[in-house]
Amino acid sequence: MLNIRNNFNLSEITWFKVGGLAENFARPSTIEELVFLIKHFKPITIIGNTSNVLISDSYIKGCVVKLGSAFGKIEQITETKFRIGAACLDLTLAKHMQNLGISGMEFLATIPGTLGGNICMNAGCFGSEIFDVLESVEILQQDGTIINIQKNEIKHAYRSANLPSNAIILSAILNGVKSTPEKIQNTINEFTKQRLESQPVNVRTGGSTFKNPNGYKAWQLIQEVGAHKLKIGGAEVSEKHSNFLINAGGATAKNIYTLGELIHQKVLEKTGINLEWEIKKIGDF
Ligand SMILES: Cc1cc2nc3c(=O)[nH]c(=O)nc-3n(C[C@H](O)[C@H](O)[C@H](O)COP(=O)(O)OP(=O)(O)OC[C@H]3O[C@@H](n4cnc5c(N)ncnc54)[C@H](O)[C@@H]3O)c2cc1C
Repeated sequence: MLNIRNNFNLSEITWFKVGGLAENFARPSTIEELVFLIKHFKPITIIGNTSNVLISDSYIKGCVVKLGSAFGKIEQITETKFRIGAACLDLTLAKHMQNLGISGMEFLATIPGTLGGNICMNAGCFGSEIFDVLESVEILQQDGTIINIQKNEIKHAYRSANLPSNAIILSAILNGVKSTPEKIQNTINEFTKQRLESQPVNVRTGGSTFKNPNGYKAWQLIQEVGAHKLKIGGAEVSEKHSNFLINAGGATAKNIYTLGELIHQKVLEKTGINLEWEIKKIGDF
């Protein structure tokens, strides 16, 4: 049965370990439960694994919805084509494909999101992005109808995908290519090694804070202007990767937001480059 929790403390489930109370919070397991929620609560705020969101300390009205694990199924359609539920975790997906000897999704082994979040953000790394393997997306609209959208109907670019507003991604069709489990494992090992060398792990973060502007690396700009040394409350810049903000202990969402804005301002003043937030902000700041 659908459990709707009132005044749910979102900081318990966010990667940053910050965020205020949600008026309501639910993890539906079926389409019927999800449709019930969109009909009874406004607004609906959909989250995935919260690895790219900064949720404000303020009260989040309506209902925050995180798809239950029943929305994370992987179904094989042909040898290389799969229907994957939006709640499927990236690592689960990458491992599943590795076992089957299907290549193209190795990069997901190092991203801590869900497929729904990946598609919204057009997540990627190591030269690949989710739109490379995407064929179509199944979406629940606010009126309760379900539609399928082909990849070529979705405008997408680096870390962005133009989906219909308030759309809830239910699943997607992904295509891989035949390879061997051994080769795929080697690629995953290599990606994991590079990740461990260059980015902080086991820290409270939201991944890359800003998108890389054309021709520049956000982390380099942040270092060049000396903004990597800034701190606000418990919010700091990671020593390992200056585009990662971290909650070093006791930070509020406001601390993290203010630090991000200060970095943005410093980079703009000193280089003229207007960094764009990659992290999605939810609630009032
Ligand atoms: C340590 C670390 C490393 C990271 N490395 C990378 C990286 O290499 N490359 C990269 O691209 N990103 C990276 N990220 C960021 C993040 O993991 C990705 O953006 C990921 O795709 C977000 O998925 P999520 O499920 O956590 O989404 P969330 O953060 O929960 O949400 C992100 C956005 O997607 C929306 N959303 C989520 N699910 C749905 C759904 N079912 N329907 C509609 N909208 C939905 C949310 O509303 C929100 O706007 C990293 C993050 C961390 C913490």
